[in-house]
Amino acid sequence: MSGMTTDIELVNKDGIRIDGRTAEEMRPLRIEAGVLNNADGSAYLEWGKNKVLCAVYGPRECHPRHMQNPTKAIVQCKYNMLSFSVSDRKRPGPDRRSIEISKIISEALEYVIFTENYPRASIDVYIEVLQANAGTRCAGLTAASVALADAGIPMKDLVPAVAIGKADGHIVLDLNKEEDNFGNADLPIAMIPRTGEVLLMQMDGHMTMEEFNTALEYGKKACEKVYEIQKDALKRKYSIQSEDTEEPEPTADEDHNEEGDE
Ligand code: ADP
Repeated sequence: MSGMTTDIELVNKDGIRIDGRTAEEMRPLRIEAGVLNNADGSAYLEWGKNKVLCAVYGPRECHPRHMQNPTKAIVQCKYNMLSFSVSDRKRPGPDRRSIEISKIISEALEYVIFTENYPRASIDVYIEVLQANAGTRCAGLTAASVALADAGIPMKDLVPAVAIGKADGHIVLDLNKEEDNFGNADLPIAMIPRTGEVLLMQMDGHMTMEEFNTALEYGKKACEKVYEIQKDALKRKYSIQSEDTEEPEPTADEDHNEEGDE
């Protein structure tokens, strides 16, 4: 609901935002890969006050069959905001907004997944927003590509996403809820840093061409940071796992002299 007029000061005279950030400062982002045992791949993400859980299943046979594509896998994303994720209870179940977000995330992921490797299959991505504070489509997409990598699904690259916006006439990175509600514009983007390919771009509100270019510049740099955090989540998961498996099994005839260290 960008563009609503309000008396709230979103950016003060020193250029500081209501949560203490500068214009180009992102909220803290933490990602953990492989958090669910019963999914093929998963990720949990906290981004400021957003909390998102993502589970991936597949590639598996696509049902109903009429949805199968004989040349490639289809990617089906279900973005869902839980009823307790926002301050007023959200009516459970799909609505126009979640259907739209599911569609744009599916399309962004379909672009990076080697879907042609899996004809007739379906790759199912479930995004559950446990707590929402603006930027959940970007948080969901960011978590989803980590969960896909965790599932071992071949992809061109990870997909980092971030929203840039305009609040009190300033271009600001990673809008919070107040800035999203009362700001002038919201521009979520997803970009592969390695190639500069843009996989998602939406715009709510108005920006001048110059502001738009600044926003893209902020977004590009932020996607690079998000990308590093995504890679780090996967490295942490798999380095812990390989350390676990590399540990030699104690053998029966091993010298058990637990010599009192003291
Ligand atoms: P995004 O979460 O990607 O920024 P929107 O711009 O549509 O998507 O929503 C902004 C924020 O508004 C959400 O993150 C959430 O905090 C809040 N919001 C969205 N839908 C609802 C709803 N039905 N009830 C209450 N708050 C909502």
